Amino acid sequence: MEKNKQEIENLGINLEASENIKKKPVIGTGVVEDKNIFATYPHKCKKCGYDKAQVIDMGIWYSDEAAVTRFKCGKCGFAEQTADSNS
Ligand SMILES: [Zn+2]
Repeated sequence: MEKNKQEIENLGINLEASENIKKKPVIGTGVVEDKNIFATYPHKCKKCGYDKAQVIDMGIWYSDEAAVTRFKCGKCGFAEQTADSNS
């Protein structure tokens, strides 16, 4: 019984300590520090070489062209655009 109480107290102290260390506001859930959580597509950035990018599907905005896909680097934010063209 006494041991459990001590453990709970220790846990409380540890939580307080870690809160002080973090000092970063947590917005929502699943926040990854300094990383784009949407950058999951394996695409190598031409600028910084980071190998994960966020895919921004532009859809068929331009009816006369093929679907345009944009990759946004998860690290530096560099955007690349590709268009699947058969011609
Ligand atoms: Zn990059």
